Amino acid sequence: MQIPNQDTIIALSTAPGVGAIAVIRLSGPEAIEIVNDVFHGKSLTEQESHTAHFGTIRDNERADGIAKIIDEVLVTLFIAPKSFTKENVVEISCHGSPFIVQQIIKLFLRKGVRLAKPGEFTQRAFLNGKFDLAQAEAVADLINADTEAAHTAALNQMRGGFSEQIKQLRQELIHFASMIELELDFGEEDVEFADRQDLKNLVEKLLSVIKILANSFDLGNVIKNGVPTVIAGKPNAGKSTLLNALLNEEKAIVSDIAGTTRDFIEDEINLEGVVFRFIDTAGLRETEDKVEAIGVSRTREKMKQASLIIYLFDMKNDSIVEIHRDINMLENLGVPFIKVGNKVDEAQPELYEKLKEGNDVLFISAINKENLEALKTKLVETVNLDKFKTGDTVVTNIRHYDNLIQTQNALTAVMTGLESDITGDFLALDIRQALHYLGEITGEITTDDLLSNIFSKFCIGK
Ligand code: GDP
Repeated sequence: MQIPNQDTIIALSTAPGVGAIAVIRLSGPEAIEIVNDVFHGKSLTEQESHTAHFGTIRDNERADGIAKIIDEVLVTLFIAPKSFTKENVVEISCHGSPFIVQQIIKLFLRKGVRLAKPGEFTQRAFLNGKFDLAQAEAVADLINADTEAAHTAALNQMRGGFSEQIKQLRQELIHFASMIELELDFGEEDVEFADRQDLKNLVEKLLSVIKILANSFDLGNVIKNGVPTVIAGKPNAGKSTLLNALLNEEKAIVSDIAGTTRDFIEDEINLEGVVFRFIDTAGLRETEDKVEAIGVSRTREKMKQASLIIYLFDMKNDSIVEIHRDINMLENLGVPFIKVGNKVDEAQPELYEKLKEGNDVLFISAINKENLEALKTKLVETVNLDKFKTGDTVVTNIRHYDNLIQTQNALTAVMTGLESDITGDFLALDIRQALHYLGEITGEITTDDLLSNIFSKFCIGK
């Protein structure tokens, strides 16, 4: 859909600050004329799309009547609809000085151009049909991607892989919806255009595809946000020391006194393209009953939110009974965990003997940074990124995940309805719901709230 008579917007598109070059972008019907008005060089209105032109930008509205040069620039033209926004777009490459950028932007604001809102260029691209909503969101993900896996996932999504799948599912469902709606039009006459068994088969198929997509979110979330990892263990086991050693900087407070690390500290390390987000469990210290520490409810809650637990125990002070009890508790929790015996430099020899065979324990000395590489390798091994490399679609966006789950619920209701032979009007209701949630993913159905919610998270200039 083309929205006519939009105003022309402007923003700095490169990062703010001093640089060799800064790029200021204008988009809108008047973009070329307005730039032409202050540009000294060729007449821009007579140039072809995708051409670059050297010249100067001059402030021609000064009180003294002198058209003062602001900068020498290179202007690139993109004539609608062959541009990012499908509108006329001009990119002005000027010298990367915040002063020059400010002067140029102010000049255009005086000429009636408006400052772009966050994500407005991308929003216009979406509204003008350049790409769908899921692809627009992938633009932001791509810019924010800081690992190879995140980059690949965002690129796949931006290039429309995921959208295609969703649109296809929706198309199949629309076909059936229209058959059912047709039945409703015939009301009394008791006709069935939509074969119930065919509909069942279709819903079953859709449910299985949606399930695969929804399940991929676990991996997608890891790719995008990292693996939430908890280091769990009794006070003084060496958790802060280990975290410090892993982060390689003094981010956690290491102390002999239990209780110094008061709040959960979150930090990240990037191991072979996987980000581990550490959640330090200072809450352990809130209990008087230190023996029960690992079972404390707040810690348990944190541990349940984690995708991975490093269970750290103290080879110098802990007993085999305590260790086994903790391991038991962790096994019941159902979150994958790695068993790590710390303070191996001062280990009780009999404890070491008991644990060294067949217990799958990794022995480290956090304080001496001993065997940390083995721990890092183990961390990476627990996250199976290989699955991702097959090129399957991976859902990385929680909004998409939410909508998939809602679609799943609506389709399950359709299935239940079909099995109990409910009337077409009820079926139609649930099918419409499913269509709605699927449509919201790609933006075939949108509301202003949804759009502003998505695009306000973008940077200005995107
Ligand atoms: P937390 O309460 O689990 O966070 O434990 P800390 O990291 O504060 O460590 C408690 C004490 O154990 C400190 O005195 C550390 O210096 C000490 N510690 C930590 N790691 C090691 C280790 O590998 N070997 C030895 N001998 N002491 C350690």
